[in-house]
Amino acid sequence: MIDIKIKKLQLRNTWRIARNSSDYKENVFIKIQRNGIAGFGEAAPNVRYGENPQLTIERIRKAEKIIENADLFQFTAIKKTLDEEIQDQNCAKAAIDMAVMDWVGKSLDVPLYKLWGLNPLLAPITSFSIGIDTPDILKKKIEQTKDFPILKIKVGKDNEKEIIKAVRSITEKPLRIDVNEAWTSKEEALEKILWMQEQNIEFIEQPMPADMLQETAWLRERINIPIVADESVKNVSDIAKLSCAFEGINIKLMKSGGLVEAIKMIEVAHGLGMKVMLGCMIESSLAITAAAHLSPCIEWADLDGNLLINNDPFQGVKVENGKLILDDSPGLGVSGDF
Ligand code: MG
Repeated sequence: MIDIKIKKLQLRNTWRIARNSSDYKENVFIKIQRNGIAGFGEAAPNVRYGENPQLTIERIRKAEKIIENADLFQFTAIKKTLDEEIQDQNCAKAAIDMAVMDWVGKSLDVPLYKLWGLNPLLAPITSFSIGIDTPDILKKKIEQTKDFPILKIKVGKDNEKEIIKAVRSITEKPLRIDVNEAWTSKEEALEKILWMQEQNIEFIEQPMPADMLQETAWLRERINIPIVADESVKNVSDIAKLSCAFEGINIKLMKSGGLVEAIKMIEVAHGLGMKVMLGCMIESSLAITAAAHLSPCIEWADLDGNLLINNDPFQGVKVENGKLILDDSPGLGVSGDF
């Protein structure tokens, strides 16, 4: 039996990106129990990928038999079976994979980073994300981000210059710009990025729609800022074809279907000479902490989804001056329940 519950996560501020806006997010939480040990998982269904909480629950129910009959220590075999049985709602697979890995870590009494041979002291600084807003509200929001040395700014509503000028009137911190596929003309994208090159921008995330790979490659040849793929990449099979257009990829557990796939993606991307960003959806500290366990081996972290909500049911990874801090409790090292 897998315990499943939908929980409404309330956003501190209305979350506005190029595609849509929201005041809350409904995520699906699960618990797998065996031998007196509970493993927790979270799914953050995303409309961009055709996901919703009801379908996510259906897929988790479909996986229940597989989990019941499995040796949970054989997590790579479990993942293979789930990939064969579940073709959509990757966030459902992410929740199961997370819960299995939490259970495995707790059963072995080791934190997950240790299981993978990673040094938690090498966990990077996470950026803090600012949604699209009016210049006045943006300035107020940025004043509240003093503890974060790097900001990620959402754009894509045709007022990019206004937004960046407002941010730059308050801070000189490095900025990461996320366009969420909003620029559909390569000439428009080029004009905007050439202007941004003078603004201390660390990289541009997904400037053009995922299906405009050739246009993105054209863009890359004409600019000096790295381009990072987000909506263009879900799992390991997507990466090789992206190396012509992108310097890096944004891996999210909800897209990859979990930690086991994310590790493969990190290795493949690095093997292709690409950098890796670990990102997130709007998620509680449960899923954010799961991703943070992989963060010691990636270049860029954007693991702040839990900081954008005000009713987090879990406690896990801490952030000190932007740096992700993992402790040595076993499994995901997360406390709380749903
Ligand atoms: Mg993004």
